[in-house]
Amino acid sequence: MKEPFLSALPIIEEIENAGFEAYFVGGSVRDYLLGKKIHDVDIATSAKPAELKTIFPKTVDVGIAHGTIIVIRQGQGFEVTTYRTEAEYKDYRRPESVSFVRHLEEDLKRRDFTMNAIAMDKTGSIVDPFEGQHALKNKVIATVGSADERFQEDALRLMRAIRFVSQLGFRLEMETEKAIEANAHLLLHISVERIMAEMAKMLEGPYKTEAFKILLRSGLYKYLPSLFNKREDILAALDYRISPLNENQIWLLFLYLSQTTSTDRELKKWKLPTKKIKALTRALDYLKLRLLHEWTAYELFKAGRETGVLVETVYETIQHRPVGSAAQRIYGHFDKLVIKARDQLAVTGNDLLVWAGEPGGPWVKELLEEIIKAVLNGDIPNDKQEIRRWVKACGLL
Ligand code: ATP
Ligand code: MG
Repeated sequence: MKEPFLSALPIIEEIENAGFEAYFVGGSVRDYLLGKKIHDVDIATSAKPAELKTIFPKTVDVGIAHGTIIVIRQGQGFEVTTYRTEAEYKDYRRPESVSFVRHLEEDLKRRDFTMNAIAMDKTGSIVDPFEGQHALKNKVIATVGSADERFQEDALRLMRAIRFVSQLGFRLEMETEKAIEANAHLLLHISVERIMAEMAKMLEGPYKTEAFKILLRSGLYKYLPSLFNKREDILAALDYRISPLNENQIWLLFLYLSQTTSTDRELKKWKLPTKKIKALTRALDYLKLRLLHEWTAYELFKAGRETGVLVETVYETIQHRPVGSAAQRIYGHFDKLVIKARDQLAVTGNDLLVWAGEPGGPWVKELLEEIIKAVLNGDIPNDKQEIRRWVKACGLL
């Protein structure tokens, strides 16, 4: 057995020594069987949270109502969840409370897709009552049991199905796809935050083109908060090669395609963090400039490297050109800038005050900006005396 399972093995062994069962489950087992990189291992156990706490001295309650605790061992945290069923679903959402059960199979049965309902014991033996391995082999996403029922229990699974398409490139099994179409409207019962978490993963997936096609085909897009809930915008995006784009780049492309007059309003509907909304709004302004002309040194300086790469990548996409060299090109441009940050300018606001012998005011900032522009555009060297002469010659002082 390899990492990251290896360092979690002692947890399973200790639970077993106390007389309970414990297995690796969920995404880690799926990704392991697919030969993909594994992030976090999830452990499922027959021990109840209170029992786990008697086995492990250090634990953190993260979702104790759902039977999940974090066991801390040698400074590392492991998520351990008690076998459970989610018997009573209300309002098409994950229930507030769950019932703990003692059999692994009952726990696997409440999981969303067959490929996510596989368990692995400490020796690497697989427990797969719902033919999840068969689904992995055939690259199929199928619900455990009746698709209609499973989506009606928890409508977030509608989004989960599509984000797995985007991440794995699998197809949806027929009944599952039909049920997505039939139950799409139930997404309205799910909080934006939970939809967003799946959406973010979908937007990073290499097969996002296919995911967007399914959003359209199933009608699920109509129940998304904004930008992605417009058929024309999605169709327009599908005219471009969007698979290499990351989440931010997709947001920017959709902002551009939607021709929205209020990026703020659109992005707030997704409850994106304010910082991200600001960054995307800024990026859209630079994208509009970039569509008019090549970067000027001053614009790239103002945008910064990160925004520069974001904008250039989306710009290339809009031009139907491969985006592969966009980042390198921006880095190259950026490296050649005479100054890369404001504090590299040879003069300060204080110098201007001394030269002018006048009280400070908005003029200081404005003049500094003019100087920065002139230095970046190569009109004057970044040299204190030269700058002073230039400012005087221009009559700016
Ligand atoms: P990732 O690699 O993105 O973490 P994952 O499959 O591990 O993918 P998680 O959201 O971490 O996804 O969930 C862990 C496991 O819990 C899933 O593999 C699945 O078995 C189960 N699960 C998660 N969300 C649901 C849900 N809404 N309904 C049923 N089972 C779920
Ligand atoms: Mg996971």
